[in-house]
Amino acid sequence: MLSYRHGYHAGNYADVLKHSILLQTLKLMHKKNKPMVYIDTHAGAGGYALSDEFAQKTGEYLEGVAKLWDKQELPEALCQYISDIKHFNGSDELELYPGSPAFVDMNLRDNDRMVLHELHGADHQLLDEQLGGDKQIKVIKGDGLKGLLAAVPPLERRGVILIDPSYEIKSDYQEVAKAVIKAHKKFATGVYMIWYPVVKREQTEAMFDLLKQSGIKRQLRIEQAIRPDSEEFGMTAAGLWVINPPWQLDEIAETTLAYLDPLLNQGGGHVQVTWEVGE
Ligand code: SAM
Repeated sequence: MLSYRHGYHAGNYADVLKHSILLQTLKLMHKKNKPMVYIDTHAGAGGYALSDEFAQKTGEYLEGVAKLWDKQELPEALCQYISDIKHFNGSDELELYPGSPAFVDMNLRDNDRMVLHELHGADHQLLDEQLGGDKQIKVIKGDGLKGLLAAVPPLERRGVILIDPSYEIKSDYQEVAKAVIKAHKKFATGVYMIWYPVVKREQTEAMFDLLKQSGIKRQLRIEQAIRPDSEEFGMTAAGLWVINPPWQLDEIAETTLAYLDPLLNQGGGHVQVTWEVGE
């Protein structure tokens, strides 16, 4: 039984980091005029109304995207991020928040493809209604980690893979690491972006230990903590663990996080961009 619904969290500080860095990754991949595939293992509903009961109950977007909405002179990554959200809204009012598939859809070139997985019945239906009719997009109702192994290596031999589970079950951390290691054996040049929360630091780091010990090269940590690690206060940090980041993504992430830290830090947090495994 899946209880997680991304609608409660849409546009929170973790989404700001995840989606702005995802957009920059696509942009860097698009510097080469060759087709690519985007694989989303945990796609969500595709878009969220910030006025609905989910978002209003938590108000998380108020501590995330809303803090950037009216800011002038944003760094480039956040400028594109906000501009895409305005495009999705069709206005300057922050009423809707796009999910990862919608952000990618707004930046898909004619020769690119998307493969989206979502297991939750209601969210799959919403996603399928929004994007399922497009011949460049495949919407699959099923387990995303299994789907990932079936989808690689892609014919294009170029791809960005977002792995964005809800980590509802403790074993999810290990399952993600195992699936990525298997997928990397089949498709070693793919860009793997693993989103992660820090709720209990040791759980998250155990997943990274598996990845670091796997022999896979080029692993980059991009992390934003809004509070110090704690056993009591829920998600204190979140980030992206990126395998094979395109050239200069590390510098872009540093500039982006340097801007976000003073804006979103709730006291005692930190940001970091660290090469955990090099060439
Ligand atoms: N990637 C989305 C975004 O950035 O907008 C958010 C995804 S949300 C964090 C995680 C999603 O994974 C939820 O919609 C949940 O229903 C779905 N999910 C949970 N277990 C899954 C599984 N095994 N395979 C595919 N989707 C799953």
